[in-house]
Amino acid sequence: MKWTPQAEEALKGVPGFVRGMAKKAVEEEARKEGAEEITPELVKKAKEKYITSLFGGKSDQSEDKPTSSGDDKGEKGEEKTEKKGRKVAIIRCDIVSETCPGIACMKAWNNRKIHFEGYGPDDELIAMLTCGGCSGRRVSRMVSKLKKYGLDVVHLSSCMMLDNDDYPKCPHIDEIKKTIRAKGIEIVEGTHH
Ligand code: SF4
Repeated sequence: MKWTPQAEEALKGVPGFVRGMAKKAVEEEARKEGAEEITPELVKKAKEKYITSLFGGKSDQSEDKPTSSGDDKGEKGEEKTEKKGRKVAIIRCDIVSETCPGIACMKAWNNRKIHFEGYGPDDELIAMLTCGGCSGRRVSRMVSKLKKYGLDVVHLSSCMMLDNDDYPKCPHIDEIKKTIRAKGIEIVEGTHH
């Protein structure tokens, strides 16, 4: 869908790691309204309607830059060890991600609700990614990569933990957990319910 330059500009305030989801949410809203292009008004409307939490993220974290706690080095090349808060990642089901933009997970994080209640303002969500498809084929690779950025905790999305008609049990969940734990990363089972 076509975006006006002003609408593109309005989207720039959204933290980088959720910008894709916010963009999809705005376009979904535009489709519902039958709009042919995205205007700043539509961005504003979508923001007010249901993605305030995405737009309200506190920092624009780049996926390409390590955080200060990870493998940064000081002027003399020494490793920096100071770490203010915990670094969190959400891993979710690749199959479910085809129909779910992850807004409920993000809302729970931004509002520090449900499985994120214990986190404070210094804790950061540094990544939200899918498992890569059965059998969780990129979990090992991605967790290793995120460790360089100071990753402490992985939340497995609620859709991965459910076992009902809508969300059949993930047949690889035990192996996925084992892979993450083997890298010394804490696991929390669930995000928004
Ligand atoms: S491994 Fe589990 S979480 Fe990943 S796509 Fe398959 S069913 Fe979904």
